[in-house]
Amino acid sequence: MSEKTDAQEPAILVLGAGYAGLELWHALERQSHGKYPIRLVDRHPVHVMRTELYELARLSEAEGGVSPWVVPLRGLLAGRTDALLTGTVEEIDLAHRVIHLDGQRVSFRSLAICLGSVPAYYGVPGADTYCHSVYRLSGAQKLAQAIRDALGRRSSGVPVGQLRIVVVGGGSTGTEVAGEIATADWSRSVGRTVRAPQVRLVIGALPFLAGLDPNLIARARKLLGTAGVELLEGVNVRRVERDELELASGARIPFDLAVWAAGVQAPPVVRAIPVEHGRSGRIRVDEHLEVPGHPGVFCVGDVAEFIDSRTHLPIPATAQAAVAEAPVAARNILLRLRGRPLQPFVYRERGVIVAVGTRTAVGRVGGLTLGGRPVLVLKNLVESAERRSARTHARGKRS
Ligand SMILES: Cc1cc2nc3c(=O)[nH]c(=O)nc-3n(C[C@H](O)[C@H](O)[C@H](O)COP(=O)(O)OP(=O)(O)OC[C@H]3O[C@@H](n4cnc5c(N)ncnc54)[C@H](O)[C@@H]3O)c2cc1C
Repeated sequence: MSEKTDAQEPAILVLGAGYAGLELWHALERQSHGKYPIRLVDRHPVHVMRTELYELARLSEAEGGVSPWVVPLRGLLAGRTDALLTGTVEEIDLAHRVIHLDGQRVSFRSLAICLGSVPAYYGVPGADTYCHSVYRLSGAQKLAQAIRDALGRRSSGVPVGQLRIVVVGGGSTGTEVAGEIATADWSRSVGRTVRAPQVRLVIGALPFLAGLDPNLIARARKLLGTAGVELLEGVNVRRVERDELELASGARIPFDLAVWAAGVQAPPVVRAIPVEHGRSGRIRVDEHLEVPGHPGVFCVGDVAEFIDSRTHLPIPATAQAAVAEAPVAARNILLRLRGRPLQPFVYRERGVIVAVGTRTAVGRVGGLTLGGRPVLVLKNLVESAERRSARTHARGKRS
């Protein structure tokens, strides 16, 4: 294995250019005044708008085009060609303060681990083999294409039954995916009139939309019902086979396509770091978002388990939390380098919005529970602002 030699001095490394990493990198650039070399590391040369990957009908219409869902990172680099390291992080060695990137060792002065999350299958046999997922762009594209192809085949004259899609996971992602599939205008995507799929949402043993406001949950349940989504509650999936899944009750649910949206866990490269891990392999961080016992090493976003001192519960793995944590982590990285006291992170949720189909959403904003088309418009506005913000950062760097 070779040692990376182009760095004059070990840089501040930001691993991952998702919501956490991109925001953190911009904050570091703003606050450090060019005093330290800062590198952004990602396996892809783009930032993926992961919160929008439930838009399966649009994805299928895009026919492989990805521009609405990605922001090229190169735009951030004008005049800073050394700022981005594209490659896969294979190992993070905190003891020797190096990472292994595509077979090369890259040493760091400070580290921000922002590598997001991967689907959690909870050891359910067949789940990763037979289920699609929307946690990565490539997976969402594949699912969108599979739905379009399956509907297209059904509309080609041979009388076959309605397309049966089962979505596993009763959280926000499962709800958004089930609502989208049930209500999208697939005829537009296929190019001729097609019958809407039959959608079943397997909630599992946890309550539907666990942790969210009861009024919001009631509204979401009603809207899913109106969209024709059948909810199967209170029982986990025991195994998944090619065209059928089995519930813990013994009931068998046949399907043409299955989607796994039952939750996430820390990626293997993060789980392998020998530090204290919390639920789903997320790394336990202290009130400064720093990894205990490793000064100058911070975790932000889905990889971090940050316990809210008011609720004594981990804050959720959301883009909202990732973006809130990032500027505080950036400040603390620089304070640590200057030998100054660090600042605590305090999480304040701005609100929650869950799309339930292509025409409506439910939300809890400003202490109010809302539902309907205006809430979906609000969600779209928030997402466009995030997209604009990522691109504006890019323009700022270019000028
Ligand atoms: C369909 C869907 C809808 C969602 N909707 C919402 C919502 O409405 N609101 C909300 O707040 N949250 C939502 N979320 C959750 C949100 O997307 C995540 O919490 C958020 O993406 C976490 O940000 P992150 O920066 O930690 O990880 P990510 O955004 O996933 O970024 C991780 C980055 O690390 C890179 N990476 C990973 N492993 C490696 C490696 N080994 N080497 C190099 N690079 C690597 C990836 O390429 C990626 O760029 C949704 C998620 C999904 C799937």
